[in-house]
Amino acid sequence: MSDHGKLRPETFRPATQLVHGGTRRSQFAELSEAMFLTQGYVYDTAEAAEARFKGTDPGFIYSRFSNPTTAMFEDRIALLEGAESARATATGMAGITAALLGQVKAGDHVVAAKALFGSCRYVVEELLPRFGVASTLVDGYDLDQWRKAMRPNTKTCFLESPTNPTLDVYDIAGVAKIAHDGGATLVVDNAFASPILQRPLELGADCVVYSATKHIDGQGRVLAGVILASEEFIQTHVHNLLRQTGPSISPFNAWIMLKGLETLPVRVAAQQASAAKIADFLAEQPGVTRVIYPGRADHPQHELAKRQMKGGGTMICFEVKDSKAGAFRLSNALSIIKISNNLGDAKSIITHPATTTHQRLAPEARAEMGITDGMLRLSAGLEDVDDLIADLGNALKAV
Ligand SMILES: *Cc1c(COP(=O)(O)O)cnc(C)c1O
Repeated sequence: MSDHGKLRPETFRPATQLVHGGTRRSQFAELSEAMFLTQGYVYDTAEAAEARFKGTDPGFIYSRFSNPTTAMFEDRIALLEGAESARATATGMAGITAALLGQVKAGDHVVAAKALFGSCRYVVEELLPRFGVASTLVDGYDLDQWRKAMRPNTKTCFLESPTNPTLDVYDIAGVAKIAHDGGATLVVDNAFASPILQRPLELGADCVVYSATKHIDGQGRVLAGVILASEEFIQTHVHNLLRQTGPSISPFNAWIMLKGLETLPVRVAAQQASAAKIADFLAEQPGVTRVIYPGRADHPQHELAKRQMKGGGTMICFEVKDSKAGAFRLSNALSIIKISNNLGDAKSIITHPATTTHQRLAPEARAEMGITDGMLRLSAGLEDVDDLIADLGNALKAV
């Protein structure tokens, strides 16, 4: 059947791409995308197998390398991101580790912002140096520090924005320029903003990585990651590393993520609208000493957030009176909002970073990142926002 005259997926608007992009139907013409739980593939002839392995026939070989369901997920998210190429991984950390490790060798240097997801900080601060890759950590909001940290052997710069958990917003275009002027690349961990609210490649980043575990699944079911970049970046730095070392996503998990993409724009928009309302509510409460939300005019980088994000995001950070004791009393008094550490989830979630996600860090490192004992991170879910506000209002009485 000819496709003549049909619209091409690249011309679709994002919501349409997320429903139809990347779909490959089997001979049964199923409506919903098929889940190919298969380790390998059958070849009609020995010659066909030879051609497949030689790369002269582009079909699938082995699910550590690629899989039809995984490929649908990769193609769909690549369309949304405007990236030439994508590789799904077992977890967000597998994606980050591969994106960084794939670019460096002993003797190289990496610059990263101090405020990183705990495991990312481990990779930059402890793992890379063990293999002779030096790293410098800078205050991500200070472009001068990025500039001064660059060395002739700096291969890549790495940041997340907004940061976890303090929601600092960093100038992605500014850091990309510094990296490129120094002959390095910029990798952005875009988990907090999601691909709906921020497009780092358009701002000059060379590679974007997601913990798909967060907004892309959005229902706390499985783990996954994805690396997006130009075809050249993927082929040069990532393709072989992933194939040969095997941090591959399960096709089942890829299917969950593929279906998660269909509803991503609707979910993120609803969660962001709730987060904005909750942030304004919290700012009025006597038990709350500080609210950090990039969508509020009192956020230190509000103007930058307005420039590089579509809205303030789905996450709120706030501080309560009486430090850790106050934060614990509030958390324990909540009933709808759950104490957990996922984010971007349909369920609203509260986290006390100092004693959970960032517990492993030395107190000085936490202080450096601005993580205080009274600080709570709230991920707005899909519940009715008035119920969430009532839950918080009630729990604040315990503070
Ligand atoms: C969760 C998270 C990761 C790690 O992702 P996993 O899927 O848990 O491996 C990395 N960066 C950020 C900002 C995250 O929130």
